[in-house]
Amino acid sequence: MVKKVLEGTCFRCGRKDVGAYISYLRHYICKECLLRFVELKVKRTIEKYKMLPRGSRLCIAVSGGKDSVSLLNILHKIMPNIEIIALHINLGIPSYSDECERVSRNIASMLDIPFYVYDIKAEGFSISDFYRTPFRKRMCAVCGTVKRYLLNKKAYELGADVLATGHNLDDIVEILFELYMRGSVEEIVRIKPVIRSENKKLVTKIKPLCEITEEETKLYATFAGLPLQASTCPLIYGSRMLRRKAIIEMISKDIPAYKHTFFKSHVKRWLPLLEKHVVAPDLKECSLCSMPSKSEVCSYCKIKNKLFGMVKESV
Ligand code: SF4
Ligand code: ZN
Repeated sequence: MVKKVLEGTCFRCGRKDVGAYISYLRHYICKECLLRFVELKVKRTIEKYKMLPRGSRLCIAVSGGKDSVSLLNILHKIMPNIEIIALHINLGIPSYSDECERVSRNIASMLDIPFYVYDIKAEGFSISDFYRTPFRKRMCAVCGTVKRYLLNKKAYELGADVLATGHNLDDIVEILFELYMRGSVEEIVRIKPVIRSENKKLVTKIKPLCEITEEETKLYATFAGLPLQASTCPLIYGSRMLRRKAIIEMISKDIPAYKHTFFKSHVKRWLPLLEKHVVAPDLKECSLCSMPSKSEVCSYCKIKNKLFGMVKESV
């Protein structure tokens, strides 16, 4: 929870005029220090995990939400010598996606960063079409598969070496929470700050905000005065992801460093062990779209075909 307060002193500079309280640190912080603190943390994360080799052509996925908008602003500021392009996927969700595109275009133009938009309708469907099918029960999972596929494909077509996404610490812990509970070892080993790729059609993926909490990105976006979309995705209600995040928040109230500790033990303890035992799958070309795939047909094409089949049946 972001608590705006007017009392206390900033734990970084001692100033009395504090802007916020960071709950996991149990400290007050002023506006200027918060901005610098977050930027410095992201810079250290990038260096620690060697996310951006010299000469990288970086594509940043921008959805219009606080995380990706903050990410674009931070990387633009701390990585002045890296070539950046912003990529937005318009998901075709009525009364939501067009605003997301407008905000994304806005921040890219404010920062003078080249902006590319891909409209999902070019694929013959929109994300809201899934809502009218049994996929409705796992909308965010389906949307995630579609976004991952299209972001990678478009970043590759744009000639990027690296694709950065705005996943923050809360997002990652929420996914890990579910995967560890289910024991999905093959998926657990894919959750890491950097997924390097040997395949030319799979761009290296990085998560520079993996050590920044949702509370911090909210504060950062607000204090930096960044443009943000005002509405919430209408398809998110009842999502299991929100329920898991609420549970993690409850735990964090008792154990403020819970998210940091979970993530750290995953990256430092479990990943090195698990990676020794989980063999990376051999990739072939999807017989339908020719993108890399673990099976004959990739997950994206499977989902898309199922959707088209369901729509046909219902006509
Ligand atoms: Fe997609 Fe879920 Fe995000 Fe909506 S809330 S854009 S359905 S991932
Ligand atoms: Zn495919």
